[in-house]
Amino acid sequence: MKIAFIGLGNMGGGMAANLIKNGHEVRAFDLSDEALKAAKDHGCNTFATAKEAVEGVEAVVSMLPNGGIVKSVYESDVFGHAPEGAALLDCSTIDVATAREVIEAAEKAGYDMVDAPVSGGIAAANGGTLTFMVGGTDKAFGRAKPVLEAMGKAVIHAGDAGNGQAAKICNNMLLAIQMIGTCEAFGMAEKLGLDPQTFYDISSVSSGQCWSMTSYCPVPGVGPQSPADNDYKGGFATALMLKDLKLAMEAAETANAGTPLGKHAKDLYAKFADEHGSLDFSAIGRTL
Ligand code: NAD
Repeated sequence: MKIAFIGLGNMGGGMAANLIKNGHEVRAFDLSDEALKAAKDHGCNTFATAKEAVEGVEAVVSMLPNGGIVKSVYESDVFGHAPEGAALLDCSTIDVATAREVIEAAEKAGYDMVDAPVSGGIAAANGGTLTFMVGGTDKAFGRAKPVLEAMGKAVIHAGDAGNGQAAKICNNMLLAIQMIGTCEAFGMAEKLGLDPQTFYDISSVSSGQCWSMTSYCPVPGVGPQSPADNDYKGGFATALMLKDLKLAMEAAETANAGTPLGKHAKDLYAKFADEHGSLDFSAIGRTL
């Protein structure tokens, strides 16, 4: 397929490279010359504007920083410029309300559009092993699926427009709470005289077991290799976890959902991000 890709940063760069590897033709646009140069090295054709990149394509994929940018790029550069009937896929993490608004506008302009945020970080984007959670009509999902399959290991239809974003922020709110709980448990175990490895051996096969413990242990030298073993460098940055928690709290307020632990997790990450925004989110244990 001929696909336009807008936003080739840490995540989008690897995703576009995987589209090329799977035989697609990619027309790339980014505001950053550096990102465009890297895209060219991966085999993308690069363009000076988004409007040119979307000319004649069958699909548009975007991976952008926030909802305001997504809305403005689609409204000014995609609608009316990409051929009518093209499939539009926004893979950025943005607020549910903006995702629904942009998809509604896309449908009015004659496009099938999905929100398709990802689980998995830069390594999964480069390796083509992302999980996509997708919101949109059955028809839009059916058209987006083959494009997403070229960049990920799982593509799941979450329901109507915006439901991909809803799944993403609920999942990441749970992850943040779970990670803080895991750090608290390891911290208290140590203060009570339990060796961290011994606590891991017990809890990882008991009812406290969770992903933050057994797949991404926040304690160096315990469990499988994780950012904790690299001084909390790499992985999923605290600043990005904070972004997702802010989106989660906005959505909770709009939906009138009770999320006291989500709010507390957001406050703890906000405080930690002031000085340590670039560290992996599992470093939150340092604040306890
Ligand atoms: P990034 O900052 O590395 O990349 C964003 C890119 O968008 C940059 O290259 C920037 O120049 C470009 N851009 C900004 N405004 C633009 C515009 N108007 N037109 C064209 N290009 C524009 O960010 P990232 O880490 O790649 O994250 C992208 C999205 O993926 C975000 O929504 C983020 O929340 C989400 N996400 C990131 C991760 C991660 O681990 N980095 C994981 C999951 C989801």
